[in-house]
Amino acid sequence: MPGYNAHRIFNYAIFAAIAALAWHESVNPKQLLALSVGFYIGTDFITPDLDTESTAIKRLGRLKILFLPYKWTFTHRQSSHNIVYGAVVRILYISIIMLVLYYVLFKSFPSGTVFFSAYILLFLIGIIIANTLHVLLDVIF
Ligand SMILES: [Zn+2]
Repeated sequence: MPGYNAHRIFNYAIFAAIAALAWHESVNPKQLLALSVGFYIGTDFITPDLDTESTAIKRLGRLKILFLPYKWTFTHRQSSHNIVYGAVVRILYISIIMLVLYYVLFKSFPSGTVFFSAYILLFLIGIIIANTLHVLLDVIF
């Protein structure tokens, strides 16, 4: 089973090739940045291994408590490691936490325009690509 650093090295090696290709194809730098930030978050923080006592969950420090229900709900390397819906479930889980925190702090929800940005979509795609590479490496080893 590959460890946290093996996943990071694998992901960043693949992403370096993706980013180089995107840069070569003259992709908008802001869009590439949004994709890269999502990829970074998906590789280092919102990984499929949040379902176990992994380095990723330990790195969250006290915020780790937010992921205890997630960890209790998902068995390690089962549905959380599904390429199709594993990342989507994690994104929804974190979105709900963020919306609740936002509501607690500001007593209202953010305007709908925040959710329909191409940059947010690229950010989410970056997370999904990172999670997919994680699962592929887990399947290989
Ligand atoms: Zn894993």
